[in-house]
Amino acid sequence: MESEVNRRVLCQRAYAMKKHRATRLHYDLRLEWNGVLLSWALPEGPGYRAGVLREAIEMEDHRVANLLFEGVHETGPIMLWDRGTWEPHPEFEDIESCLRKGILRFTLYGEKLKGGWMLARTNRNAPRPVWRLSKLADSFAESTTDKSILEEQPNSIRSGRTMEEIVRDWTRPKNKCARQIKLFDEN
Ligand code: MN
Repeated sequence: MESEVNRRVLCQRAYAMKKHRATRLHYDLRLEWNGVLLSWALPEGPGYRAGVLREAIEMEDHRVANLLFEGVHETGPIMLWDRGTWEPHPEFEDIESCLRKGILRFTLYGEKLKGGWMLARTNRNAPRPVWRLSKLADSFAESTTDKSILEEQPNSIRSGRTMEEIVRDWTRPKNKCARQIKLFDEN
């Protein structure tokens, strides 16, 4: 039993969902793997009802150091909307193969998003490959009568702040130094 627990811990890697108000508001899914963050931009955010497909545009890998960043980037304010760990479902543990084939099933252990999810590529020939993110049916999936989790839990999981508060705090004098250090390449 202990080895099973250890295996599960070892297999879990960092996960984050960012909320990013760039030219348009969108969400950014980050899955740590092999020393980088696999990244998808979600124009409508995640759908938490089973079977609802949400567009997920494949982005370049991001640096793990940026995982928990929250603040104002040159592209716009970024909120850490959810965080936790993830692991692929047993038959999807060969991540390289999954990325080649364009299909990945995995579990999120976030504070907001939990349970089974699927990423499936629908167009690899677009300027950026297009995938669909969907919630798999399980006890975590929202019922059809619920409001969207995006509306019910809109604030930061790191600080509880709204996007407006993140912007306000960033422009206060005490953050001048932080603003001047360009450590982050979030997009
Ligand atoms: Mn973004």
